[in-house]
Amino acid sequence: MKKKLIGRLSVLGFFCCCVALLAAAPRPAQPAVPARPVQNAETGPLAGRVILVDAGHGGTDGGARAKDSGTWEKELNLQTALALKTLLEADGAAVIMTRETDMQYNENKRADLTARLDLAKEGGAGMVVSIHMNEYRTRRESGPQVFYRAGQEDSRLLAGCVQASLIETLNPAKKRTALAGDYFILSLDIPSILVECGFISNAAEEALLLTSDYREKVAQGIRKGILEYYALKERPSVPAG
Ligand SMILES: [Zn+2]
Repeated sequence: MKKKLIGRLSVLGFFCCCVALLAAAPRPAQPAVPARPVQNAETGPLAGRVILVDAGHGGTDGGARAKDSGTWEKELNLQTALALKTLLEADGAAVIMTRETDMQYNENKRADLTARLDLAKEGGAGMVVSIHMNEYRTRRESGPQVFYRAGQEDSRLLAGCVQASLIETLNPAKKRTALAGDYFILSLDIPSILVECGFISNAAEEALLLTSDYREKVAQGIRKGILEYYALKERPSVPAG
């Protein structure tokens, strides 16, 4: 994470989860992601799509830490990313996971992120969805928020679709809007978003995010937003006049 971004987001009232790294984390038991029948990969709504799903942080990079439970962000990111993988695959997508265990590619943050992006390039991904949990120095901030890279119009459209879908699916008390953010994981020239699923510094939202039911709803919200994005992109343009 670039320091200039941290400063900018702090001014806006946000504090990126990516600041808090370090230290090995305990591994709380997590329920398995419920299985779903897989549709025919040739007929599902995401057939032919290759999507990179990035579970943020991992290994010695725990990310943010939940204030009440002490759970590390990396754990919640992974469980949410796995739930999203199941849903996208059921829709026929080919999903590339940056990790499916508690690991990292390099203890150097930039090298770790570069390795994750290399997976997208090598796998021919057409979309990047990076999963994170947010935190703030006070406990009142809450609500999911989607980030995209400024100047990438398709990413902005995707971020808007997913933000709207998350609000519809989760009905959070705080209804945020998608924002531009200078995250390295968003630097490929394909539709890319970073989803801050909620604030684990907020007691109520932490309690929700600790449950597999709520993480499943988060994954469903992201999946629906992705479907809406592709539907918008494929809608034939109507000739003027
Ligand atoms: Zn993070």
